[in-house]
Amino acid sequence: MERDLSRYARQTVLPGIGRAGQQRLLDAHAAIVGCGTLGCVIADQLCRAGVGRLTIVDRDLVEPGNLQRQVLFDQADADARLPKAEAARTRLAEINPDVRTEAVIADLRPSNAERVILDGPHGRPGVILDGTDNFETRFLLNDLSVKHTVPYVYAGVVGTRAMRAVFRPGVGPCLRCVFDRPPAPGSQPTCETAGVLAPAAAMIGAMQAAEAIKLLVGSDAVATGLVELDAWTGMHRSVDLTRSADPACPCCVGRVFEHLEAPDPDAAALCGRNAVQVMPAGNGHRIDLDTLAAALQGVGAVSRTPFMVRAGLDEHPGVTLSVFRDGRAVIEGVEDTSRARALYARYVGA
Ligand SMILES: [Zn+2]
Repeated sequence: MERDLSRYARQTVLPGIGRAGQQRLLDAHAAIVGCGTLGCVIADQLCRAGVGRLTIVDRDLVEPGNLQRQVLFDQADADARLPKAEAARTRLAEINPDVRTEAVIADLRPSNAERVILDGPHGRPGVILDGTDNFETRFLLNDLSVKHTVPYVYAGVVGTRAMRAVFRPGVGPCLRCVFDRPPAPGSQPTCETAGVLAPAAAMIGAMQAAEAIKLLVGSDAVATGLVELDAWTGMHRSVDLTRSADPACPCCVGRVFEHLEAPDPDAAALCGRNAVQVMPAGNGHRIDLDTLAAALQGVGAVSRTPFMVRAGLDEHPGVTLSVFRDGRAVIEGVEDTSRARALYARYVGA
């Protein structure tokens, strides 16, 4: 059946896309990991471009401090503390009914990464896009990309500066050829210490979306450079990565996927959030949210949504606990991971 492509007229007229390219986009699948500052920009653009299937993975909730830069969300989403993946799915369905979005409310970690990215309802993606804010997840995505030969569009943004690169297994270097290992905690500025200028994120997120579109239509114009830009000074440079493959790379040469094989972290501070995520020990936990909501009556104000139970803790002023079905919790008002684990053990269980 011939599809109606009139919605994409300004795109099909582009020589690099055409009607054939548009058909490919409508049949394509892109996985976006992290739906914060960058993920919102990428998802918005790929949805409008008509990338037919999107998988959006995010572990966090919308809060008012996100709205300065996270373009898919509004005040009502923040007031309701909706999970970002779910708020994004709702918004994207309003933007373009051609696109089906799978919202995954989860933390991508070694034990679930292959299942979440490769075995979801949309099947294997044609591209993985980086909307994360931490190098642990980026190295995990790189392992996934190399092991399963899925292109990976990396990006990062801090302050007014941003970077992006496309890593194509078998074609050029991988992330580890270029960066080797995650920087030591505290050694780099983060969005928490340095802030984020929304236009810097919009610029680099748009560049990621452009590379994804090229990859998905099968263009030979995919970027081979690491772009770095500063949205404040106007600085823009590109370093060619064509010859940056490291012959000693443990990942793309040695094919040792140590980030995919690592144990899951049990707790992590969320960047820019004054919040800690706590994971239950072991896997495959399912929490009965009704039972938990009943058990938490008496500790403070409790609310139950389809996705989680949320409780303010009267004994710990300013601390709010949000528990999801998989047992994962986001504890707001806490920065110390051991304190967060202790609160989890006390209110949710060990
Ligand atoms: Zn490599």
